[in-house]
Formats: sequence, structure tokens, C-alpha cells
Amino acid sequence: MHCLRNVRRVCRQPHGTHPAAPATPCAVPLRLHVRTAASGNALVVGGGFAGLAAADVLATAGLNVVIVEQGRGLGGRMCTRTVTLGSLGERITFDHGCQYLTARNSLFGAVLNDLHERGAVAQWGLGQPVGTAHLAEDGTVDMSTFTADASKALWVGTPTNSRVGRALAAISGPGLTALTATRVEQLHWDVGKGMWTCRARQTAAANSGDNASLSRLESTSFDFVVTAMSSVSTARLLSSSSSSSPGGQGGSSGSSGSSGSGEAHGPLAADVVAAAAAVQSNVCWALMVALNKKIDVPFDGALLSRQDPAGGAVPLYGPIAWLARDSSKPGRPLVAGGAGECWVVHGGPDWSDARRGAAPADVAQELLRDFAHLVQTRISADDVIHVEAHRWNNAYPLNPRPPHPPSPPPKDTGRGGIGGGGGGGGGGVEVPLTGYYMIRPEMRLGVCGDWCKGPRAADAYVTGWEAANALLRL
Ligand SMILES: Cc1cc2nc3c(=O)[nH]c(=O)nc-3n(C[C@H](O)[C@H](O)[C@H](O)COP(=O)(O)OP(=O)(O)OC[C@H]3O[C@@H](n4cnc5c(N)ncnc54)[C@H](O)[C@@H]3O)c2cc1C
Repeated sequence: MHCLRNVRRVCRQPHGTHPAAPATPCAVPLRLHVRTAASGNALVVGGGFAGLAAADVLATAGLNVVIVEQGRGLGGRMCTRTVTLGSLGERITFDHGCQYLTARNSLFGAVLNDLHERGAVAQWGLGQPVGTAHLAEDGTVDMSTFTADASKALWVGTPTNSRVGRALAAISGPGLTALTATRVEQLHWDVGKGMWTCRARQTAAANSGDNASLSRLESTSFDFVVTAMSSVSTARLLSSSSSSSPGGQGGSSGSSGSSGSGEAHGPLAADVVAAAAAVQSNVCWALMVALNKKIDVPFDGALLSRQDPAGGAVPLYGPIAWLARDSSKPGRPLVAGGAGECWVVHGGPDWSDARRGAAPADVAQELLRDFAHLVQTRISADDVIHVEAHRWNNAYPLNPRPPHPPSPPPKDTGRGGIGGGGGGGGGGVEVPLTGYYMIRPEMRLGVCGDWCKGPRAADAYVTGWEAANALLRL
């Protein structure tokens, strides 16, 4: 049973993204119009931006929400590798995944303002610029083509990017419980009871065996489930999940018949599995290198592509697509007492894909050589304090699923949706959903993740927000 509640938490920060922007209060309500549920449990699988957005909507509506994440912390691909060095215990950090956040839509702009108010994010690129450049013929950076990205603010977590996931979960309040280092292996929809259960296990990221939390999770029945993972993980989990169909009721939603026996059978939601499986992702190798000296380039971050003589719309990347002076981000620890720096370097998509099966140590050495050449700096073994490489298997969705606006369309609200700078206003109307999610209403299953919209954190957030709101509108 649901009732409509207009939960408004209007952010007070300037909505302009540069500190010099006019101090107009942001008119975007953070929780636009959500419904309250009298009672109920919701399971969100995946603790990235999509899952955190879905969990926030559901917890704000009054549900008891458990968000389960297989990694050590929340935030998904926006995360941080912390390395403790030698006997002195110096700590250095690398944001090796998602680099920075931008207000690509008004919903995420409001979230960023809230995070800023809480001290969880700060702007990057206010010292040396961050921008784009072309690679010269010889594989170095053609600085004559460098363009600083001054049109928008670049937000990073403080003191590290891994702070953002934790901060987002904290915003949701006591209705949200996070269970990390736990992998959901299987979901089960019981048609007769109209409830979900799951099977899960602790992952290697667990510090200790918290069997009580795991047992509690497995013995809880959930009214709603939201999957919020990469397309590959979504297809995998739903393929290994099942539904039961007692007394001849419909079985797994993808199948036409039913066993009529109460037996479990899958896969669950075959159409969702097919949609997720159709989305391709690229591999991205990330180099993390700490040096005891500084690299003399006039930028703190650069997206690098080759000049395309044909003027094609898709950038042509070389071996290195992105490099960032990671230690220049606000609040990062000093490296070598301030004499050194941490850099994060991302291999281009084709280059990374060609090394899909390579050993991380070999990739690290190759990227380090390319990096030294790129920035025209000799880097000897003595200069390197720490070096390692991480492979992102599903870095970005290459062909995200196009939107499927719900049908029939929601009542017109006379306002823009969340993608078009709308928001604001009140008046008890619902914000239209723009279809960047999937839903199986008969089993109260919502599906989201960046693959349902686009390859950015702001996109992922929208998908989770929409999937959860769609469930609450059932
Ligand atoms: C190298 C790199 C650089 C990027 N740079 C930027 C950038 O600068 N700006 C930007 O906006 N975006 C960037 N992105 C993209 C951005 O990080 C993603 O679009 C966004 O984080 C995706 O969020 P998500 O919630 O959809 O998925 P994820 O962040 O992948 O979250 C899904 C979570 O589900 C968990 N999970 C999977 N299976 C299970 C299971 N069975 N049980 C429990 N948990 C499970 C995973 O561990 C993961 O934490 C970058 C991505 C990469 C890889």
C-alpha cells in the first residue's frame, strides 16, 4: 500500500558549478516526488551509483532497504586503491576507476551539491587545468591542441573518490543497511508468496566472517528487488536466478509455460537477460604509478585522442586515452614528503582490449614506458615508488540500451524531467520517468545500471532513481 508524499530537500548551494558562479539557490529538489510505503523490504544488488540512487529512493519512501555489494566498499567503479609504503607506513592513494563527476543532469547536479555541502566532494582542476588534447605523430602530447575543460565543474571525492559511495549511503539515513564484501549468487521469486529471497556468499574482500549478517540476508523475504550492476553481471545473476510457480501459475517471466509443480526454474526475466547481454563493454587497463619526482606538464588531467583526418564523431584513442596527476586532487596525501606525485593512466579501448589476457605486471611496465614517452620525461626504476596495473573488465557500456519510456506515459506534469534541466516546483505531480531502466512489474523487479543510459556516473544515478521510482508507482 502506497501513499504519495512530496519529500523535498532543496539544496542551498549555488547551482553553478564554479565557486565564482552566482549564488542562486539550486531549485532542484533532491527527492522530487516519492511515494511512501507502509511497510516492506527491498533488496538492491550492487553498491555503485545506480544502486545507491535506487536505495535512496526506496529508503526515503519508507522501505527497509538492504544494499548488497561484493566489493569492500560502496561506490562501484568510483573507488580508490590505497597503498601503504615501507616501514614508515606512508599512505598513498589512487582513484583508478571513475575520475571525476559532473552535473550532466539536474538530478545529479543536486546530488553533487548535497555531497559538496557535506564535504564529501570538492572541485578539481582549479589549479592546473584538466582538458583534452591530441596526440602528436610521435606519440607525445600536442600541447598546441590542449583545451581546458572550463565549461563545467569537475568534482572528486575528498579525501578520496571512495568517500563518495559512503557519503551517498549516509544521506539515505537509517532505512538503508549496507552489506559489503557480499556477493548475491542467486535470486528467487516465489510466485505463491509474491516475495523474493536470495542466496549470497562473502567475498575475498571480507575482513572477517560476518555470518550473522549473511544468514539474516538469506532468511529475509523481500517485496522489491533492484539489480544495479554492469550489463554482464546483470545477465549473469538473472540467468542463474529462478522463480517458482506453484499450482500451475505462470513461471519464470521469460517462459510461456509453467511447471505447475512449485519447482524453481529459470532464467528469470529472459527479456532483461537478453537486453543486458546485447550491451557490450570495453576493457580498460589502469596504471597506478607513484614517483618521487614531479612530471613537468602544464595540466593535471588530459583526455588524449588522435586527430581524425576524416573528422569522425568517435574519438580515435592511442595506447593512452587518459592521464591524471591523481595527487593534485584536493585532500590527497603528500607523496615522498611533497617531492613526488601519483599518476593514474588509462589505456585506450583498443590497446586495452588487445591486452585483455596480459599479466598486470607486464601491462604496468608497458604503460609506464608509454607514459614516460608521452610526457617526455625519463623515468628510471629509482624514480618509481610504486607501480601496478588494474584491469577493468567492463569499464564503459559501448552501446547502452536506448530508453523505453513507460507506456502509457505518466500524467503530464508541465515540468521538465530529470534529464532536461527540469525539476523545481511542487504541486503534488509526479516527475515523468524517461525509460532509462527496466522493470518486471509482476515480480516487482527493477533493473538499472549505466548500461541502461550511458557511460557516466550521472547516467548510472538516473537509471537507479528511475527504476526505484517506477517500482514505487506500481
Ligand atoms: C576506468 C574508468 C574511468 C571512468 N571515468 C569516469 C569519469 O571520469 N566520470 C564519470 O562520470 N564516469 C566515469 N566512469 C564510468 C562510471 O564509473 C560508471 O558509469 C558508473 O560508476 C557506473 O555505476 P553503476 O552503478 O551502473 O555500476 P558500478 O559502479 O559497476 O556498480 C555496480 C556494483 O555492483 C557490484 N556487483 C556486481 N555483481 C554483484 C553481485 N552479484 N552481488 C553484489 N554486488 C555485485 C559491483 O561490485 C559494483 O560495485 C569510468 C569508469 C571506469 C571503469
